[in-house]
Amino acid sequence: MHLLLVRFSSMGDVVLQTATINWLKSLYGAHIKISFLTSKEFSSLIEDHQYVDNLITFDRKKEKWPELSAKIKKLHQESKIDMIIDLHATLRSWRLRQSFWFIPSLTVDKRRVERFLLTKIKIGFVKKFLGLPIFAMEPQVERIIYDWKDIFGEGNNLSALRKFIGSDFGLKQLTFLKKEKQSPHAKPYIVIAPAASFAPKRWPIEKFAELIEMVLAESSLNKFDLVILAGPADEYCKNLNSITSERLVNLQGKTSLHESMKYLAHASLCVGNDSGMNHISEAYGNPAITIFGPTDEKFGFAPHGVNSEAISIPLWCRPCSTTGKKTCFRDQQYCMNGISAERVFLSVKKCILHAL
Ligand code: SF4
Repeated sequence: MHLLLVRFSSMGDVVLQTATINWLKSLYGAHIKISFLTSKEFSSLIEDHQYVDNLITFDRKKEKWPELSAKIKKLHQESKIDMIIDLHATLRSWRLRQSFWFIPSLTVDKRRVERFLLTKIKIGFVKKFLGLPIFAMEPQVERIIYDWKDIFGEGNNLSALRKFIGSDFGLKQLTFLKKEKQSPHAKPYIVIAPAASFAPKRWPIEKFAELIEMVLAESSLNKFDLVILAGPADEYCKNLNSITSERLVNLQGKTSLHESMKYLAHASLCVGNDSGMNHISEAYGNPAITIFGPTDEKFGFAPHGVNSEAISIPLWCRPCSTTGKKTCFRDQQYCMNGISAERVFLSVKKCILHAL
C-alpha cells in the first residue's frame, strides 16, 4: 500500500505529524510505503525519517501549481498511490485532492468548531466561571489515531509514538557546539528558544534575558550551558548579546533548521514559546517548557513529556487566537507580561533537577 501524506507547514505541525508516520508504519510494517509532501523550508524535519520512502518538496516561493501537480503525477506513475492523507486541510491540499480525484483520500479534522468555541465564545472561561468541566482537545500527536483507528487499526504501542522523530537521528556529534565554544568537551546544555512564527506568541525578550541571568546565577544549574536558537529573521534575539557569560552561546541566525534539530536532539531541556522548537525537543524525547499566551494548551499542542510543562495564566480573554497571529486587542499583552521570569525559572529548576 502506498500512502501520500500531505502537510505543507508549519514547523511544529510537520514535526507532530511524524507521529502519524510512525503509527502507520507500526501497523503495516513492510507492507506500507510512505511518501510525504511538505514545503521546501521544512523538508529537514522529514528528510532523515527512517520510515519515509519518498520526500516530495514544494517551494512555495518559486513553484506554482503545475509544478506541484506534475510531481505528484510522476510519483503516481512510478508507484501507484493508493491513498492521499491530507493532514493539512487547506485550499492547496484540497485542490490537490480534487485534481487527483481518482485516488481515495482522507482529510484530517482540525477541530475547527472546538477551537472556535474556545477562542470566540470563551467557552473555557465561561465554564470555569460556572465550575463546569472544560473540554480539551486530544494531544495533537494522538488525534489522528483517535479519529482513524477504525480505518487503519489502533496498534498497541501508542506511547512509542510520543518520541516521534526518534532520538538517534544519526546526529551524535556536537561538533558545532564544541567549535562555537572552542572546547573539546561541550557541557550539557539548555536550549532557549525565544522565537515564534507570530509576534503575539512571543514571551518578551527582556523576560528571556531575566530568565537567562537567573539560570546563570543559580549554583545548582552551573553544570549547564545555555544555547539560544532562533532563525535569521529573529533579530530581536540580538538583545540577549548584552549578557556576557562563557556559559552562554547565542546562535540566532547561525544555524540551519537541520543544525538546530541537532542541538535540540541533545539538549537537556528546551524553554520557549508555543512554537516548533519545543515540539522538536519533545520529538527527540527531551523535555520542553512551553509558554502559552494568546493560544491555549487545550488546543492539543501542550508538551506531553513527563518532565515537560506548559506555563500560562488564566485570563478572560484567553485564548484570543487559534494560531497566535491576531494582534492583542487589550492595552497590553497581559497573557505574556503576566508570566514572570521567576515563574519560568522555578519550572526550569524543577525540570532539570527531576531529570538528573
Ligand atoms: S492579553 Fe488577551 S487579548 Fe491580548 S493577546 Fe493575550 S489573550 Fe489575546
